[in-house]
Amino acid sequence: MPRIRSPTQIKDGRAFALYTQLSPRPDGSVPKEALDQLVAKYGKGSAPGGEELSFEDFAALFKQPSTQATEGEGDCIGWAAFDAKSPLRPWRFTRRATRPNDVRIQITHAGICHSDIHQVKNEWGNSTYPMVPGHEIVGIVTEVGSDVTKHKVGDRVGVGCMVNSCQNCDACLVLKDEQFCPKQVGTYNSKDVDGSPTYGGYSTHVLVDEKFVLRVPDSIPLERAAPLLCAGITTYSPIKHYGFDKPGQSIGVVGLGGLGHMAVQFLKAMGVHTTVISTSPRKKEEALKVLKADNFIVSKDEQQMKAAAGTLDGILDCVSAKHDIGALMGLMKADKTIVLVGLPPVDQPNILPGLQCIFRRQRVGGSIIGGIRETQEMLDFCAETGVHCLSEIVQADYMNEAYERVIKGDVRYRFVIDIQGSLIA
Ligand code: NAP
Ligand code: ZN
Repeated sequence: MPRIRSPTQIKDGRAFALYTQLSPRPDGSVPKEALDQLVAKYGKGSAPGGEELSFEDFAALFKQPSTQATEGEGDCIGWAAFDAKSPLRPWRFTRRATRPNDVRIQITHAGICHSDIHQVKNEWGNSTYPMVPGHEIVGIVTEVGSDVTKHKVGDRVGVGCMVNSCQNCDACLVLKDEQFCPKQVGTYNSKDVDGSPTYGGYSTHVLVDEKFVLRVPDSIPLERAAPLLCAGITTYSPIKHYGFDKPGQSIGVVGLGGLGHMAVQFLKAMGVHTTVISTSPRKKEEALKVLKADNFIVSKDEQQMKAAAGTLDGILDCVSAKHDIGALMGLMKADKTIVLVGLPPVDQPNILPGLQCIFRRQRVGGSIIGGIRETQEMLDFCAETGVHCLSEIVQADYMNEAYERVIKGDVRYRFVIDIQGSLIA
């Protein structure tokens, strides 16, 4: 087993993140095969045969010319949108210096959520540019501020849609649902506490207040963990809140994309009879065989919809575009709730079916991400049950094509950007 001497100072965050993923033993020894694979994937040449490597020798194996970012300057390279219409492109910008409560994270992977696409295209009407999207972030801690107690250098961590909140209101203190804090700071397209714009996870590194940094359990590979930080918590939280987690119930999941495929897996892990309601007949086989859904309904097929009328105890609606909510509510028994998490463009809002609510005493609910405490609970649940995201790993320069494919529903089921393999500062 080769031994790599651990660094005394972390000057090369990317090399340190790669080194950490080899899980070196206390004496620095790492499995030769894992080292060879890492060099083949992220470095150049082959790992030297010697017994002991200095960290600098190890880092040299992974040196690459920095990503060509012709615009901007600073210590961080990201992929940015500059307006609602143009493709995203590389951009250099400056991240803040480490504050006492900050954790500096070398980003290894970032998921592409449909919300990123809505925001890049200004479909919610509140976009500011340049925008570096990305709120499904995982990576390795490379530095902590002087007051940090929760995380340490080398930890595997994640960040979702929020990077700060007031820590003083009912939402923060009583509910522990910081997503409802009026002063919540979004991971990007938001203003930080000092008024500066926030930039997201399609970038080499990020600094985040330790309270908003999650621990990623060792058993979840980082590339599979990234989407849990949004798609995972956004479905886990309403399943728990609305009581959809009770075994023996029959729950529907609408829209088998990033969110939907997580919802199906959570419900199945909780022992719930799960029906997928989809516009895409081609997704049926995988929904039943891989995601283990119990039933699959094509929403455009009137016969199938009729046959399933009045059978469900609740629905989680994960659709990214305007669609017929009333038709879906027809699938539920009386006195049940459909929970909306999909967020269509503001100029094409969903129409809420009043008559359905009145005549069948049905309810329309909603939910937005989840609090930090619950996000950690969800990550630990995934570690215990083996639930994880099915992802397609892509390089950063595939970003714009990935966006087009998500819009067409052509993704199984989340694109995850291999940041450490494709964004090099
Ligand atoms: P996604 O991967 O694109 O999945 C959306 C799915 O919706 C598609 O795969 C498709 O599934 C279905 N769909 C798309 N267009 C449709 C249409 N016109 N009619 C009916 N069904 C349609 O998106 P995602 O990342 O899972 O996100 C889903 C939505 O949730 C987005 O609007 C996103 O912004 C929102 N979101 C909300 C929160 C929150 O906190 N509430 C958090 C994250 C994301 P089928 O092929 O199976 O029909
Ligand atoms: Zn998201």
